Amino acid sequence: MMNNRRNNNVVQIKHCLFCLERERNVDYKDPQTLRRFINQRAKIMQPKRTGICTKHQRKLATAIKRARFMALLPYTSK
Ligand SMILES: [Zn+2]
Repeated sequence: MMNNRRNNNVVQIKHCLFCLERERNVDYKDPQTLRRFINQRAKIMQPKRTGICTKHQRKLATAIKRARFMALLPYTSK
């Protein structure tokens, strides 16, 4: 049965944030928004978890990497 799946407590957001809010762009200068897509260990979260579409996930990954280089986001926690 499929009942024994792990991560049942994870709330899934079904729609892509950047598709819903057209005026919101994926921007490396906006660490507040980018922070929502990295986990506690500062890793980029899977699109499966965040509900981000493929197109925006690619832009997001680039933006997060740029933000890290500019020291706006951490590479790792601790
Ligand atoms: Zn999207």
